Amino acid sequence: MNNAANNWIADQHQQLAATLKEWSNINSGSYHVAGVERMADAIQEYIESRFEVSGKRFALPALQQVSNTGQLIERPVGPLLKFSVRPEAETRILLCGHMDTVFPEDSEFQQWHQIDANTLGGPGVADMKGGIIVMLTALQAYERHVDNKNLGWDIVLNPDEEVGSIGSAPHLIDAAQNTHMGMVFEPSMPDGWLAGARRGSGNYSLVVHGKAAHAGREYHAGRNSVAALAQAMTKLDSLNALSDEITLNLARISGGGPNNIVPDLAICHFNIRVGSLEDQALAEQHVASVLSDLENLEGYSVELHGGFTRPPKPATSQQEKLFELVRSCSSELDIEIGFRATGGCCDGNNLLAAGLPNIDTLGVRGGDIHSDQEYMHLDSLSERSKLSFSILEKLNQNASFWLS
Ligand SMILES: [Zn+2]
Repeated sequence: MNNAANNWIADQHQQLAATLKEWSNINSGSYHVAGVERMADAIQEYIESRFEVSGKRFALPALQQVSNTGQLIERPVGPLLKFSVRPEAETRILLCGHMDTVFPEDSEFQQWHQIDANTLGGPGVADMKGGIIVMLTALQAYERHVDNKNLGWDIVLNPDEEVGSIGSAPHLIDAAQNTHMGMVFEPSMPDGWLAGARRGSGNYSLVVHGKAAHAGREYHAGRNSVAALAQAMTKLDSLNALSDEITLNLARISGGGPNNIVPDLAICHFNIRVGSLEDQALAEQHVASVLSDLENLEGYSVELHGGFTRPPKPATSQQEKLFELVRSCSSELDIEIGFRATGGCCDGNNLLAAGLPNIDTLGVRGGDIHSDQEYMHLDSLSERSKLSFSILEKLNQNASFWLS
């Protein structure tokens, strides 16, 4: 254990809490581009004033969404930030975080508030502005308190994680291919445990165009898109019965119109979660067969948008080795940490699919994320910074053992 580093981290407590409050008050909802830009400015300034590095910004393409009228609309997102230190090092660590939150520009949840002496509420305090602070504190401790630095590190901060990291995906893949281990700073579970295996996730929008007609005078000349979609949805839902490991959630429907018109438009949005690539293939096959049934209906036209954007993240042997690394660090620090499988997913899924083993819940302890009850425990800022520092230190000593 590196006492000097741990003492230095403990001394930062007030300052870390103050920064988190400042950052929580910057609304950075995924589609609030100016807000995400302000967040990027604040983080870039913070990093460049503490490390000898300058950030690079990348513009991302707008996200495409299906509107309630079946049109494809573009939703612009903010910039992505990258930093790279000692890129020539033999072992390179990728540290990832997202700058966006789920709280839109006009959300009622805009400011931090103190819940009790050790608990802070606020947008993004856990997910994951607190995590970004943990990341940067561990890195500072590494730069200050490790003498022979064998590690190079890259930071990628994306603006669109909460909406699926579609635009940032190529950057994540590129970074994964040029580094040896990933550290992602999503919040831990409320009890401090970390995510083990994660499920994969796909989001889809199914648009059915029929033909409008007078419901009384010429019903049979029309093509009822609502009825066709309803049958397709029943078939989609039957995927839930195929395997315990697959869920399909019919999430939102729109379309239709007045009672006396055969409706010519119906739209359904749905999400699928899977535990393995085999289940993903099964689910994709199921969706394709429902689609082809619809396409065979005479007089209709159909569009399917979306797909799997988060591959499953199984507990591979490389992952197990990293779990062991984290356990050995946490037991030295006397922190109680285990790993638990979860249905949620994050950029850690995409990094592993791109070949990079990673731990993805290294951020603060907190909970009720994605709601206006979001909170974090302030003492976890230094606790988790020590944990990540310890991981970096062990990798610095013996990367080939842990990353074999
Ligand atoms: Zn998050």
